[in-house]
Parts: sequence; structure tokens; C-alpha cells
Amino acid sequence: MVVQQIERRGICDRRVLEAMREVPRHEFVPTAVKTRAYKDHPLPIGFGQTISQPYIVAFMLEHLLLRAKDRVLELGTGSGYQAAILSKLVAQVFSIEIIDELNHRATADFQRMGYRNILLKSGDGYEGWPEFAPFDAIVVAAAPDHIPQPLIGQLREGGRMVIPVGDTPDQNLLLVEKRSGAMRKRVLCPVRFVPFTRKSGD
Ligand code: SAH
Repeated sequence: MVVQQIERRGICDRRVLEAMREVPRHEFVPTAVKTRAYKDHPLPIGFGQTISQPYIVAFMLEHLLLRAKDRVLELGTGSGYQAAILSKLVAQVFSIEIIDELNHRATADFQRMGYRNILLKSGDGYEGWPEFAPFDAIVVAAAPDHIPQPLIGQLREGGRMVIPVGDTPDQNLLLVEKRSGAMRKRVLCPVRFVPFTRKSGD
């Protein structure tokens, strides 16, 4: 998977490729779709949600320019696959999931598989996780129609965020950089993520 679907399509960050080689994707998908775990597709994980396509995970993580000492916030734990890859790349991963059942499943999976530097929380990620801010990087795995303002506040100066923004199906993956307190935004590519939902309904 890594050589044929990820390296060949232009991902060249050695650390990202190594982390993707280390994390067994089949451990993060339901039994019914395990035979398709190493195909380059999103797959259903229950509750109407999906595990992201491996290439997109690699693409997003490469744009974050992560360093081993970084602390990273992920919104949308889902299957836990991307958080597991992040855990190999950085010092501490913080991940929020809005669906309680997915949070519980990922908590149990990480314990079983021995991932110790991932802290999970159940809830709406819109407000970020102020107790642990600022973050060196933020990665969002579901698409809101605008960039949540609290996330910008929780990004360290010089930090980077990758986030899909837009109403389905017209979403763009954005790279946001915080420089001298200002935001620099760049569109990376059109994408299709599950919608970012809100607990409060707004
Ligand atoms: N990173 C995940 C991708 C899962 S899909 C993986 O590797 O499997 C995106 C996830 O975002 C879904 O599980 C969905 O429930 C969650 N999500 C949607 N809106 C959210 C919100 N406001 N806060 C936190 N998680 C959210």
C-alpha cells in the first residue's frame, strides 16, 4: 500500500512513509471490510462514518511538516487510524470525536494495541481543546463550512493546520499557517470528507 499507492503518488516525507508502514490499517476497520484494508479507499466504520483514504492521510500529514517534539490536535478520531499514525510521528496526540461509540472503540483499541501518547475526548471539536493549547499542528478529518475560530486561537505561532472546508460535495482541503498572528491560507486540492457535525446543532 505504502509503495504503490502513497510513494508512487508523490508523498516523499520519509517519516510519514515510515509511520504509515508501521500502522496496521486492518486493525482499524470492521471485520466485514478487512480484506479491503490496504486498498486506497475510504471504508465504512459504522455510524455513517468512514476511515479516510490512506493517500489523503499521508497527503495531509506531509503538509503539516511535523517534528518529533510536536503536540498535535486531531478533530474526528473516527477509527483512530490517523491518530495512530500521528502517534508515531509526534510526541503527543490529542483527538476529539463527536460520536461517543467511536470514541469508546478507539479508546479500547489504543489500550489493546499499546498506543500511549494519544489522549482522546468525546465531544464537539469545534471549540478545540483549550486546556492543552497551543498546538504545533491541527488536522481536521471532517468538513465544516468555515474554519472554526477557536482552532486558530489554539494554533501556535508558526503552526500549521490542514482542514477540509465547504458544503458537500464542494469541499477544498486548506493549509492554514499562522505567521505573526495572521492566517495564510492555501487551497491544496478538492476533497470529499464526511460533514463536520455540531452537538449544539448550530
Ligand atoms: N481520522 C479518522 C477519520 C474519520 S471520519 C480516521 O482515520 O478514521 C471523520 C470523523 O469526524 C467521524 O468519525 C465523525 O464522527 C467526526 N466528526 C464530525 N464532526 C465532528 C466534530 N464536530 N467534532 C469531532 N469529531 C467530529
